[in-house]
Amino acid sequence: MPLSTESHRAVTRERASYGRERVRPDTVGQVTSPLDRSATWPYDAAGEPGRFSYARAEHPNQVAVEEMLGALEGGRALLYPAGMGAVTGVVLTMLPPGGTIALAEGSYYGHRQLFDHIAPWGVRVAEYDQTGAPPDGADLILLEAPSNPMLTMPDFGAAAAHPAPVVCDATLASPLRVRPLDLGCDVSLHSATKVLAGHDDLIAGVATVTDDDLFDRLHLTRRLTGLVASADTAWLLERGLKTVEVRIDRMEATARVLADRLAGHPAVTMARYPGFGFLISFDVADGDAARRVEIATGTIENATSLGGVRTKLESRHRWEGNRCPEGLLRLSVGLEGVDTLWADLEQALAQA
Ligand code: PLP
Repeated sequence: MPLSTESHRAVTRERASYGRERVRPDTVGQVTSPLDRSATWPYDAAGEPGRFSYARAEHPNQVAVEEMLGALEGGRALLYPAGMGAVTGVVLTMLPPGGTIALAEGSYYGHRQLFDHIAPWGVRVAEYDQTGAPPDGADLILLEAPSNPMLTMPDFGAAAAHPAPVVCDATLASPLRVRPLDLGCDVSLHSATKVLAGHDDLIAGVATVTDDDLFDRLHLTRRLTGLVASADTAWLLERGLKTVEVRIDRMEATARVLADRLAGHPAVTMARYPGFGFLISFDVADGDAARRVEIATGTIENATSLGGVRTKLESRHRWEGNRCPEGLLRLSVGLEGVDTLWADLEQALAQA
């Protein structure tokens, strides 16, 4: 029997309030949130919008995962549809027109590409060695902890002493190893595509802040630009976050062993590992040797990206050009056994 208009309204209101009640400030370990793909929710009996009215502004799965992310970071989190969406929202909100971004040298090449792409809007960029002080005259500082793929760590104190706001991309560290907001930064950024989600099955980003006014400004930019992640993305990210701690502990324990062994391997001219985390970069003789090694791997995927459960190796020169050495290989350590991974690396390095 079809529902009468009155009972249909009652059911949809109940659903809307169900969504609201489910959004609670639980952290890692909460029971699974219901997936709500609604784009719009009914107004209340007085004709007023409730907490959720239109999903470009906010939606329940987004808010649920933001509460988990905020608890991990020690601030208020905003979810984005990509790490690049997060940095775009931050730059549009925080960089004055014609302003200069001081960007960590050797950091994620996509950030530099984005800033060059939007240069016609007056955005300027100055790369600097983040182990020292940012340059005078910068209007926004973008650190990376550690940088991808050169694996340097920023001098947080020197950045915080600069008058410009400080943003730190801590994708490679994760909030379990580095919490930029505790170290004097204004914004902590992540590509949540990587270890936070952990399974190479979604693209997302997050920016976390402590200042309420900055949160509101970022929130408005996100709503007006439509830089909004879907409910499915938020739900999957929430699932990934429940295991992030055990994944990182295991990946890091394996990475420590592999970094040591790589440093002692005769075909490796330089190995970089910051002492924590799952990412290693190392150099072989030249670009041809790097290509031979990457295509010789078996268990290890020859693929881009990092922070997933499957170990990946790739030559970064194909993407970064002269931003990194031609022989540089980036190894993102996953959950496979350390002996299996070392055996695969040894046989691949024999091709170098
Ligand atoms: N920041 C870092 C350190 C990254 O490695 C990446 C991507 O590889 C990004 C940001 C961009 O993230 P996304 O691919 O989720 O847009």
